[in-house]
This record gives sequence, C-alpha cells and structure tokens, in this order.
Amino acid sequence: MKLFNTLTRKKEEFKPLKEGIVTMYNCGPTVYWYAHIGNFRAYIFADVLRRYLEYKDYKVNQVMNITDVGHMTSNADEGEDKMEVAAKKEGKTPKEIAEFYTNAFIEDWKILNLEEPIKRPKASEHIKDMLNTVQILLDKGYAYEANGSVYFEISKFPEYGKLSHNTMKDLKVGAGGRVEKNSDKKNQLDFALWINDDKHLMNWKSPWSEKGYPGWHLECSVMANKYLGKTIDIKTGGVDNIFPHHECEIAQSEAANDVPYSKYYIHTRHLIIDGKKMSKSVGNFYTIKDLIKRGRSPKAIRYLLLSAHYRSQLNLTEESLDSAEKTVTNLLNFIGRIQETKIEERYNDDLKEKINEVKLRFENSMDDDLNVPEALSAIFDLISETNKAIDEKKINKNNLDEVYEAMMKFDKVLGILEHKKEKIPKVVLDLANKREEARQNKNWKEADKIRDEIKTLGYIIDDSSSGPRLKKV
Ligand SMILES: [Zn+2]
Repeated sequence: MKLFNTLTRKKEEFKPLKEGIVTMYNCGPTVYWYAHIGNFRAYIFADVLRRYLEYKDYKVNQVMNITDVGHMTSNADEGEDKMEVAAKKEGKTPKEIAEFYTNAFIEDWKILNLEEPIKRPKASEHIKDMLNTVQILLDKGYAYEANGSVYFEISKFPEYGKLSHNTMKDLKVGAGGRVEKNSDKKNQLDFALWINDDKHLMNWKSPWSEKGYPGWHLECSVMANKYLGKTIDIKTGGVDNIFPHHECEIAQSEAANDVPYSKYYIHTRHLIIDGKKMSKSVGNFYTIKDLIKRGRSPKAIRYLLLSAHYRSQLNLTEESLDSAEKTVTNLLNFIGRIQETKIEERYNDDLKEKINEVKLRFENSMDDDLNVPEALSAIFDLISETNKAIDEKKINKNNLDEVYEAMMKFDKVLGILEHKKEKIPKVVLDLANKREEARQNKNWKEADKIRDEIKTLGYIIDDSSSGPRLKKV
C-alpha cells in the first residue's frame, strides 16, 4: 500500500513501526462551534483510511483530540482564544461551550457512521503532561521563558520547515498577517508553548506564571506522544494544518524526544462550496445538521465526502448532493434486489470471475494512495454485471450470496450500506402476499387497495422483472 507523505512529497510504501499495528493521530475539532462539512471531509478521510487498514488486517489505534483551549483565531499566536470568543458571544462559560459543541460533534460523528477512535483526549485534561514537556524543552535549551510565557526557539531546531517545505528565509518574508510585534519573542517566528495571561478565563498555574494556558500546537503533540508513543505511524489533518500547526508539533516533539514524530503525514485538500471557499460571511458555511435539515441524507453526505480523491479539491454543489443521493439510493436498491431475487438458474461462472476481478481492482485502487474514485468505479462495474445477470436470468442463489458478501466487504471500508439485512415486518409481508394473490386472480381493485395499505405502513411495492419487491419509503 502506498500513501502520499507530505514530508517527502512522494507516494511511499506504507510500513508501520510495529508489524500488524498502526498508530494514527488525527487533528480533531476545536469545539467553539459546530464542525462544518469541510472539517468532516478530513475526518471521513481518516475514517476510510482506518477502515481500509482494518480491511487489510491491521489493528488501528486511532486517537483524535478535542481542542478546548488555546486555539487562537489566527491559528498561530495572535488573536483571541476561539473558545473564549464563543463563550463571550453566547454568554456561557468556555466549559459550557466545550461541552455543548463536543456533544454536537460526537452526534454528527455517529450520524455519518464514523468508527470510534480508541481515545478522544481533551486538551484541558492534559495540562500536567504539557507542563512536563515545556520543562523538558526548557531544560534542553529549545525554549526560553519571557515575562511568564514560554516560547519555542525555532533557530535551535534547524529542521523547522521540513514538513511545509518553508525555508527560514521564506518564513521571514511570508510570515505576514502578524497583528503586532511580540517583544517577548527573540524571533517573531518563535511560537508559544505556554502563554501567561491573567485575563484568560481558562487558566492554570505553572512554574513561570500564576495564570496561563498552553499553546494549541503543544497540546496535540503531547497527547499524541502520551497515547500513541514518541513516534507514531500516521498523522492526519487538513492541508491548512501543515503550517504552522503540524510544523510546530514536529519541532516540539522531536526536540523533546530525539526521535521522529510521525512516519507519514497525510493531508486532505479543502472542500469548496459552489466553487467558493467556505466562509460564514459569504453564507456558504454548512454544518452537517444544516444539510440534514435541508433534506439531505447522512448516507449521501458521507458518500459525497468520501467519493473524491482526498488530495483533490471537492466542490460541493446542489447537483453533487443530488447525484450522491441518487447513487446511494441505487446502491441500497441494488442490495435490496440481490437479497430478494429468487432465480434458480445454473451457477454463473462469469459472475464469480467478475467478483474476483472487481475485488482486485478495489484493492489495487485503495492501495494506490487511497484512490476511492477508482475503487468505486470497480464496485459499480460489479453492480451493472450483476443487474445484467438478473435481468437475463443467468444467476442463482450462490451467485447472489457471493455478490452480497463482496458488497458488504467493500462496505466495511465505505460505511454506506446497512450491514444487517433489514427485516421487513411480517404484517407487510403478509399483505404483499395477499396482493400478489389478488393480482394472480386479476382482481386489480383489491390489489391496489392492498398496495395503498402497505404504503401507509411505510413500504412501497416495485413490480420488477424478477417479481414484486418491497422497498422502504
Ligand atoms: Zn492538532
């Protein structure tokens, strides 16, 4: 399996540190507001990666943090803590804000059928670990204290810039956006590990000041080290996390531990809406709940977010949502069809061969830097071949079972279809049989009456070439 590593800018053969086990840390949400659809693109990518590694029989130890302090509005050291801005705006405490949006996040997570990580550590619950790391960095000479705050001195870590491929010179020219010069910093590019601020609502005592709080970059690297080890296999995030966030995490972790922070760094490209960058001011900022309220199904949202390659931009439009909705319906109908078809013809060897070919194509595509669009096209090929075999009545139960099994195996990675066969209530089945009897007797009026009755119970009857089929409305 090959993955594109941002660190080397190459597709590399994936080989975890320990055979059979993968450690993966995904940069999680800052819980000051609902996660938006673009955030979920990165989370669903991580979920599909994890599921595919599991498909390949790896045990995956996945950790995703909850940031509830220290993430500034600038993503660097300037601006205000996002949590405190939200608290002021909503007239709540930062803790209340964190609780509310953490719950909302986990709800969306479940709605979109993401697998649970082994741990969701909260930054505010790991202050002691962070203070320890800051002390180590001070002791080793990578950090300095100024007016009760502690900064990482990037000139002491010559590899700073290796992930984002920024040279120190680029950074000096391009650092831009600095609100004001911080006179405590030796170099304006040094970044805060600990911030002394007695007005900050969430604050902790440290050896350097009475009231302070940790820097965002420090939080993630400390929690990754704590739960997954000093070197992890995979670190993921959106491309906007590459700099400064992941660059700073590497500097702290490698300076403190003297070993590489992560073997692979994988970054998801942005999602745009109607060709424009998502932003609250433009009014194209969607949460998962916004889309569901507008009638979009969670399955279609999940499908759309995973269907494009993670390193290509995904443009979300009404049309792309419509088309995802249609595809998911087709997938579900197909599963329904292979479960209900009752044709007992000769075993179709060609279909068996097709399944093997599609499995191979699916795996080769996924092994190639998680090429989901190619993997999906292989699956659609199997669907159309199977539909053809059913239409031509060149199929039997063994074939159908094999197709079903293959689809469910693919779905362990995609997470779109239902894993359990849905039970149709007995009362509906009995009515369907009664209707079929009426039809056989050409009693159309009675048949229509029963069809309407079935509809009130939430099912419709589709009279397909292979016999009547019940579908949920
Ligand atoms: Zn992070």
